[in-house]
Amino acid sequence: MNKTYLSRLFKQPTRGSWLTEALLLAVILMAVATLYALRITQLEMHTLAKPQQNHDLWYVTNTALELHNLGRVARKADATETLQDARDELEVRLDVLASLLKPAEFAPKVSKTILHTLPQAQQTLNALSERIEAWSYRLANSADPAQVIQEIVNQADALSENLRHVVLAVHIASTNAQDQARIKHYEHFVLLAWILLALLIGITLLVIKLIRDRQIMKRLSSHLEALNKRLEMRVNRRTRQLAESKALLMFILDASPSEAALVNAETGDVLFINKTLLDKLELSSPPEQLFLRSLLVDTVQGEAFLDELDQYGRVDNWEAQVMPHKPYWSSLSAKLVEIEGKLAHLLWGFDVSEHRSLLNLLETQANTDSLTKLYNRRAFYKLGEQVLDGCKRYEHPCSVLMIDIDHFKQINDTHGHAVGDEAICSLSQTLRDTLREADIIGRMGGEEFAVLLPHTDQQQALESAERLRQAVAATPINSTTGTLQMTISIGAAVFNPQHSTTLEQMLITADKALYQAKTTGRNRVEI
Ligand code: GH3
Ligand code: MG
Ligand code: MG
Repeated sequence: MNKTYLSRLFKQPTRGSWLTEALLLAVILMAVATLYALRITQLEMHTLAKPQQNHDLWYVTNTALELHNLGRVARKADATETLQDARDELEVRLDVLASLLKPAEFAPKVSKTILHTLPQAQQTLNALSERIEAWSYRLANSADPAQVIQEIVNQADALSENLRHVVLAVHIASTNAQDQARIKHYEHFVLLAWILLALLIGITLLVIKLIRDRQIMKRLSSHLEALNKRLEMRVNRRTRQLAESKALLMFILDASPSEAALVNAETGDVLFINKTLLDKLELSSPPEQLFLRSLLVDTVQGEAFLDELDQYGRVDNWEAQVMPHKPYWSSLSAKLVEIEGKLAHLLWGFDVSEHRSLLNLLETQANTDSLTKLYNRRAFYKLGEQVLDGCKRYEHPCSVLMIDIDHFKQINDTHGHAVGDEAICSLSQTLRDTLREADIIGRMGGEEFAVLLPHTDQQQALESAERLRQAVAATPINSTTGTLQMTISIGAAVFNPQHSTTLEQMLITADKALYQAKTTGRNRVEI
């Protein structure tokens, strides 16, 4: 599964949720609009249901009917003998008509909306009202009601005809008003229908969106589940690998011929210790604590070791004597590591005792003359330069002697090479016995020796040389072929600080003096 696919997968719900929210908002807005439209429709339906809608038509029709009744009663009264009865009935009819024509006085709540828009009809009704009032008054107060009745009979038809026009006009006007109201209602219904349609579309889109979101979420969650499983598997595998490699490492360290340990840097708690180190410590089970400084024989060196480890994080191949109870030389290495959030010291070392003694032997062999066990030429130069440097630094006197056995060839020729060797050994012993501990004695080759005498001036050098010469002359050599006597010649040279002489130059000078001693008779000291 690549990265783009994942990011697309994770981006989708964000974009989707924005769309869902927008759709939800639209649906809510449309629901509110629908409620508003329904309310308006309800109000209009209510208006439509009001009984006084056609009041004006009813009013003018009744008025026309009553006027017709008035005419009929007046005609009847005109034709009858009993005037009083006819007069009473006429008065009632006139009162009814009057009440119809002036509704505000009898029923103040009734409104005449359509009539207000028809001024001519209003005029006709007003005129009729005035006429009825006049007739009513005259009928009640006049001495001759028959004249009033006659007047009513004469005018009733004409008035009815006028009122019929009013009825027609009101009828047309109210029909028009109702038509307009219906059109208005129709428009409102259309609007409501559109809003409802939009609401329906919105809800449908929202539902589709929600279903799609759900599908995406399902897909996403199944992908996540798969990813989780894979991650879990990888973690398990990695954990197992780590555990295996840890176990392998522990096995290797445990089986290693080197000593190895892992200890807490602060508390010294032992986290791991291998068998080799346990054996060296002469322990059968791992100790609770182990401090690196206590492993080194030299405690000062132990502190220095820890300082270096703390400062640089590691120490490599530090050769030191370890195990104070049974010291041996070890090459120690250590590393500062972090184990489970805590600093630890990883230490390993290997026994270099054998290696070291071999090295010592080699060094001794390289520096020692095998026959006499004195320093050989190389070692003499090396040590001699060091001692001479010290003398130069502190301006101490320093001298060298070159020694050569006299007529050594003769000894060899007469007594054999082995006796010659014995003579050489005898001389080296005399040199050891006669000279000081600080003097450096070297066999320079054959039967030639050199001696460096530190802190020795010319006088002291001559004395030493003389003492040496005499000692050799006085020492008989007891060989297998008998006792023999030998002498030596010595050339001496003194260190000259003004010319900052080197050991090589001093030896050359001493060699010249030796040559002089040989040429002037041997068994002598020359400077
Ligand atoms: P001079 O008095 O002039 O010194 O005479 P010399 O006979 O001693 O002469 P030189 O010093 O030249 O002699 C060196 C001889 O030492 C030559 C050689 O045969 C002998 N020689 C050198 N090394 C050894 C050694 O290790 N053992 C023995 N036995 N003889 C050696
Ligand atoms: Mg010689
Ligand atoms: Mg010689």
